Amino acid sequence: MKLAICPGSFDPVTYGHLNIITRAASMFDKVVVVVMINGTKQPLFSCEERVDLLKRATAHLPNVEIDFYGGLLADYARERDATVIIKGLRALSDFEYEFQMALTNRKLNPAVETVFLTTNAEYMYLSSSLVKQVAGLGGDIREFVPPCIIQDILQKYGRNETE
Ligand code: ADP
Repeated sequence: MKLAICPGSFDPVTYGHLNIITRAASMFDKVVVVVMINGTKQPLFSCEERVDLLKRATAHLPNVEIDFYGGLLADYARERDATVIIKGLRALSDFEYEFQMALTNRKLNPAVETVFLTTNAEYMYLSSSLVKQVAGLGGDIREFVPPCIIQDILQKYGRNETE
């Protein structure tokens, strides 16, 4: 069975992430989306909340599993016996960091290959930070995230409207 891992902060999951996850799910037998800790970012949602949002947003994808890991991705890949890490690339600005991460992960776990999927042009601009900024300033986030998680995001900003 060919298993791929989709790592990220997913704070919160967006249509950009879902596009990558869906495409990965059509290429591999199983995709494990793993919520990881990014020490450089102060998250809006706890790990448990991010896992829960992802579970709801991917409920329609039978070969997608959601997990959380607090350690190194290379170790997680080894634990799960995964040989492929899937990453989405939005723009050239993503590339340098992702390239460095891919090389680091290969050093830490030579059995693992990083595969980059280019974003769907429709989602090129989309990031979790953008969703948070718009939600925090009272904007409409329906174009950015699936309906099943909108209320959870609005609630974080004390908004409770039914949109
Ligand atoms: P991180 O904090 O590790 O950057 P993110 O949750 O921001 O994690 O992103 C996880 C993965 O999803 C990364 O590979 C990122 O490039 C990809 N990604 C995020 N937004 C998009 C998007 N709009 N289109 C394609 N890939 C995306």
